[in-house]
Parts: sequence; C-alpha cells; structure tokens
Amino acid sequence: MTGTRLALRGPALSLKADPFAAPSRDCLDHIEDALIVIEDGVIAAIGPYAELAPGLSPDISLIDHRTGLIVPGFIDAHVHYPQLQMIGAFGEQLLEWLDTYTFPAEMSFADAAHAERVAGLFLRELLRAGTTTAMVYCTVHPHSVDAFFAESERFNTRMIAGKVLMDRNAPAPLLDTAQRGFDESAALIARWHRRGRQLYCVTPRFAPTSTDAQLDAAGALLREANGLFLQTHLCENPGEVEWVRELFPERASYLDVYAHAGLVGPRSMFGHAVHLHEGDFCTCHQAGAGLAHCPTSNLFLGSGLFRLFEAVDPRRPVKVGLGTDVGGGTSLSQLQSLNEAYKVAALTGHKLDAAQGLYLATLGGARALCLDDRLGRLAPGYEADIVVLDPKATPLLAFRSDYCRSIEELVFVLMTLGDDRAIRTTYVAGAPVYDRDRTGERFRYPTHA
Ligand SMILES: [Zn+2]
Repeated sequence: MTGTRLALRGPALSLKADPFAAPSRDCLDHIEDALIVIEDGVIAAIGPYAELAPGLSPDISLIDHRTGLIVPGFIDAHVHYPQLQMIGAFGEQLLEWLDTYTFPAEMSFADAAHAERVAGLFLRELLRAGTTTAMVYCTVHPHSVDAFFAESERFNTRMIAGKVLMDRNAPAPLLDTAQRGFDESAALIARWHRRGRQLYCVTPRFAPTSTDAQLDAAGALLREANGLFLQTHLCENPGEVEWVRELFPERASYLDVYAHAGLVGPRSMFGHAVHLHEGDFCTCHQAGAGLAHCPTSNLFLGSGLFRLFEAVDPRRPVKVGLGTDVGGGTSLSQLQSLNEAYKVAALTGHKLDAAQGLYLATLGGARALCLDDRLGRLAPGYEADIVVLDPKATPLLAFRSDYCRSIEELVFVLMTLGDDRAIRTTYVAGAPVYDRDRTGERFRYPTHA
C-alpha cells in the first residue's frame, strides 16, 4: 500500500440513497465545509471541518479545495477504448457504422504498440473527465487487454475490462473461435482478474457476432473465477433487434439469447437496452442485471430514447449505470452524458434532477456493477476515488454559478454546462493523478512507498 495520509477540505457532495426510490433531497449527503481524511487509499473519516479538524494529526498534508465541489469519481458503465480514433464519425446507424468505422479501427489494434499508445491516451482522457472507474471493451486481440490493464495498474485505477469475443459476422482479422476465445479469455482472467484493482469482464460484442457455441463458452468463462463481470450490447437499434430475431428464431427475445447461455446475472451489464420490452425489464430485475444508459451515443447514432424512468420503476427496479459508449458516444465526460440524459428523459416525459443525475454517474453506477460497497460514495471505508469540480471553470459557468440558490441548482448547471474543463483534480485511491492547474505534466502515476 501507499501508506499515504492526506486530508481534503471543501464542500462535499455524494449520494447516500437512491433518488429514483426516495425523495431526492433525502438522498443527498452534503457538507458545506467538509474534511475528508484519507489513509492508505481509503476514506478514513468525513465530516464537518469544524468537528474533525481539532483531531487532525499535524503531520497530515491538508489540501484546500474550498473553491471547488468534492464528489465521488465518476463511473462509466460502457465504453470502448479502441474507438477513440473514430469518435465523431459521420453519417451511419449502428450496423453500417460498425462495418464502416469500428471494425477498421479495431483492426489497427493488431499492432501491440498502437494498443499501448491508445490505452495511455484513453486512461488520461478518462481521468481528465473525472472518470475513475469504467467498464471497457478492448478488441479481439489479447494484447489490447494487456495494454489497457498495464496502464490502469500504473495509475492504480479500478477498471473492468475484457477481450472482445467475435466468431462470426465481422472481418476475418477480428474473428476468434469459440475455443480460442475461451482459452485467450481464461489466460487473461488468470493474469489480470483481481490483480491490484483490476477486474475482468467476459465480453462477447453482441449476439450477431457470436455463435451459440461462443455464447455458451462465455457462460462457461463466467464460472472460471469469482467476481467476474459480463458485458455486451442489447437492443440498441431496431435493425439490430430484427437481425437477432432472424439469427436466433428459437429464442423468445434478444435478452433471452443471453439468458439461454447463462449470461444474465448480477454482474452482467447490458449496453443501451433502448428497445426493451416489459418482460425483459422483469428478467433483468429478477437476475439483478444492470443496464448502461448511453445517451450521447443513442442520440448521435439515432438509435432511440432509453426509457430510464420505466427501467427504474420501483415496482421492479432495474439497476442502471451511465455509459459514454465512446466512439458511438460523443464525449468521455459524464457531465456531458448527463446533459444529454436530461434531454432524453425530457423527450420521454420525465425530469432527471441533479441528485438523480449525480447518482447515475456515481453510486448508481457502482450499484449496477455490484461495487457499491467500495465505490460511489464519500463515506468511511470507501475507496478514495474522488473528483474536485470547478464551478467557475469557464467564464459562463463562473457567471451562472453566482446565481445558483442551492447545491442542487449548482450541480444541475454543472451537468448542463460542464465538461472536462470543470474537472480540477482527480484522485485515485487518494493520489492526485490528474491536476488541471498543475504546471508541466498534469498526469502523475501514484508513487508507492
Ligand atoms: Zn458499445
């Protein structure tokens, strides 16, 4: 362990309960002038500065964030690191977009040096956006996973990632087989799962690019080790849903294809779920499976409007995280995801308030990933993945935030106007790995004692 001890002072805000199930006001944990004491990468104490400061050891370094807003690090429940080079690609919907842009981009990861270069940039862009945990698709190449986890290990970030499994309906250089995909994934699980803060995710891209044999192999992989995750895509686009119906005529629904292979469980995360039926919501609720709401992607690719408030219906709530889905998504900033999530909710007849938004990007995401015992809150015992927001990051934000009458209004304005510029400092397990205002190199690997 690092053995570091430090304390942060400033306004602190996190969620202590689910604002989709209780009044938002009751779910916020807001301390106007907080002291957060961090020991060995974990929050040891948090409370009002006036109460905790007298007991603070004089040798602890105290960092003043009183002009910022301290929140938990953001969690991105769905993102593709190899697609950074084709973010913002013009003019296609999902299936044509995969053929035209995605598959060629992923083929360039046959070069291990390219994978290392992009992994380094991607991790830095996440941290610059205030995201400290993400569930990440790599490519079919095992070294794309090694490159990602190696860089994540250097930053000591808690990341969840896996090798994409595809054994049909993609260009030959991107195909494995059911057996090879199983063997390569098993080796990566042995190498990376639960090594430091890294967690492995079994990753069939989506039903159309895997045979029944490969989906069954993915189910077998999930039984290889404790605490493994599963990620894939589900009901993103009408053309895709129709294709799955043609490929798997014997299954009751798209989700049923995955359920039949044993892929629907509490650590399963299904990306998009835009075109989901009530029966499938019930299946996810019963299994404890999570859905990744990816608003910038769904709007950019014209996929449709995710029915968030239907998903989280308290009568049979489904766990929902927030995903950027870069490169289908247009920003790695979860503030920008929330900006678009608000509009998607508005177009489906609902209002996503500030507490609900912050919940999706922090504690709600952690719950969807079954990591809410350690991530997503500012509370004793939680891993000290922490972001300091700057409410005066731009001239407009500075002007607008002066007129905010409540913490909820300030957070909502940050959701609407904020992006990576509003991230002042990102702490990973208590170490300041990104500092916007640091002169020279703004990223820094934590130093281990
Ligand atoms: Zn995706």
